[in-house]
Amino acid sequence: MTDNDKPSAEPGRDFIRDIVEADIAAQRYAEIVTRFPPEPNGYLHIGHAKSICLNFGLAQEFGGRCHLRFDDTNPTKEEQEYIDAIKRDVHWLGFDWGEHLHFASDYFEQLYAWAEHLIRRGDAYVDDSSIDEIRAMRGTLTEPGRNSPYRDRTVDENLDLLRRMRAGEFPNGARVLRARIDMSAGNMTMRDPVLYRILHAAHPRTGTAWCIYPTYDFAHGQSDAIEGVTHSLCTLEFEDHRPLYDWLLDHLPVPSRPRQYEFARLNIGFAVLSKRVLTDLVRQGHVAGWDDPRMPTLAGLRRRGIPPEAIRDFVRRVGVARANSVVDIAMFDHAVREFLNKNAARRMAVLNPLRIVIENYPEGTSEELEAINHPENPDAGTRRIPFGREIYVERDDFMEDPPKKFYRLSPGREVRLRYAYMITCREVVKDASGAVVELRCTYDPATRGGNAPDGRKVQATLHWVAAAESVPAEIRVYNQLFLRPDPGAGGDYAADLNPQSLEILASCRVEPSLATENSAAPVQFERQGYFYRDPDSSPGRLVFNRTIGLRDSYAKARASPAKGGGHG
Ligand code: ATP
Ligand code: MG
Repeated sequence: MTDNDKPSAEPGRDFIRDIVEADIAAQRYAEIVTRFPPEPNGYLHIGHAKSICLNFGLAQEFGGRCHLRFDDTNPTKEEQEYIDAIKRDVHWLGFDWGEHLHFASDYFEQLYAWAEHLIRRGDAYVDDSSIDEIRAMRGTLTEPGRNSPYRDRTVDENLDLLRRMRAGEFPNGARVLRARIDMSAGNMTMRDPVLYRILHAAHPRTGTAWCIYPTYDFAHGQSDAIEGVTHSLCTLEFEDHRPLYDWLLDHLPVPSRPRQYEFARLNIGFAVLSKRVLTDLVRQGHVAGWDDPRMPTLAGLRRRGIPPEAIRDFVRRVGVARANSVVDIAMFDHAVREFLNKNAARRMAVLNPLRIVIENYPEGTSEELEAINHPENPDAGTRRIPFGREIYVERDDFMEDPPKKFYRLSPGREVRLRYAYMITCREVVKDASGAVVELRCTYDPATRGGNAPDGRKVQATLHWVAAAESVPAEIRVYNQLFLRPDPGAGGDYAADLNPQSLEILASCRVEPSLATENSAAPVQFERQGYFYRDPDSSPGRLVFNRTIGLRDSYAKARASPAKGGGHG
């Protein structure tokens, strides 16, 4: 392992930042310019967040600028919907490209002129071979490729054919433009790569103006150069493309000289970060859409209630390295919990309600009790919650015949209701099938607020809601979308889907403040986890997504490193 292979011990320090600092120290650039270059063929996922945070973060830290540039060179897969979604997601994550919204398609005319330039210099030629023939002549890692029979066409012939390709004279696949480099190059990317292909397809931005489109390789570096990008950061799979990136810049009269650097992509256990697979999940209906809260897309994470701050924090902790690795999903969950614990207001909700009648509470009356909004933040203030003779508690908080370590409600046992009173269970009411339908309890009026004047202790404090005033809600609990840490490794993603990835709890009850608060703020339902209101909510019917449960196994694993876990 070299130093570059390790995520930096100090978050925010990494080999890319070292390079940028050295460039600044040497006054190599007037300004640091980076870009985030998505192809608009799907929604952004958390892997892209790493690239976004890196590119926009560098620009912020070093007082430069970062462009959002759509690499829209493949019209058959690209859509306006994706362009809009990507812009929304980058903004949501907390970054702004200002006036620097660009499209590779803005440069089609310039790129085409450069294609002719290469031809005139003898550096490119039109090849009439089919894609299969080109592949067959390409050689292998151990064998050199063979020259195409069309490789030595004259400049005039090449220019004429390229212009006719552009004019739409030939069908898809009839010809391509290739760079004339070296068919025996050790790096296969350098074996006369394709620069243009014929594609009779409408483009979301240029419409039918073009029927030839540049390849990624021909568009990317030149777009960087046009925009004055200084540091072109991409993931490791483009390392083999760097010689071509440089070759093209060396052979074209470009206005600036960007450099490409590669870093490891983000991989997370149990998650799939491939747009192709995510597209399949959506199209085949395995999820409800790109923003399904089970998806690792930014839109899905947002809908689930994951705050952008937690994503940025997670990405910072993962760091930027040169070696690929798989990050434990628990590390992500930890970042989410840490942010929500500090920032989510506390509320009460009962997911699986069991009715309690407090027999000695005066009939026909009710009262309001004071509850605090955040235990560690007095500024968050308090709220009033209604209490009355009938309440709901969580079914799991009662056992008729409890085992030894069960301290919650059971016949004869006294417990505390959070912010309210101590109650004692007197009687269990069952239906004909023997299922518990109601508990009859008594309360001690002297324990208002939760403490007994005589100092007696109880072993459990339960959350609850008032039966009459609470509001019905549906709560959607999300579990891992995939059952194995390396989904698809067996060849079929669909086979690895978790059939229990979504549980719908249809008859929850939440405290009434949640019906009047219209904010899209995350909340903690006490003792349950963090939740976020879903846009499917309507005034009479609230819907919440469970963002994440309360338990943090990652923090525990870190506390005892002997048991492994040791990230960050
Ligand atoms: P696909 O998944 O279809 O191969 P892609 O994820 O590479 O595509 P792009 O739109 O080309 O999609 O990605 C935009 C930028 O985000 C690229 O610079 C790419 O390197 C980077 N990126 C994509 N996935 C990750 C990832 N998992 N981790 C870090 N960066 C990523
Ligand atoms: Mg890509």
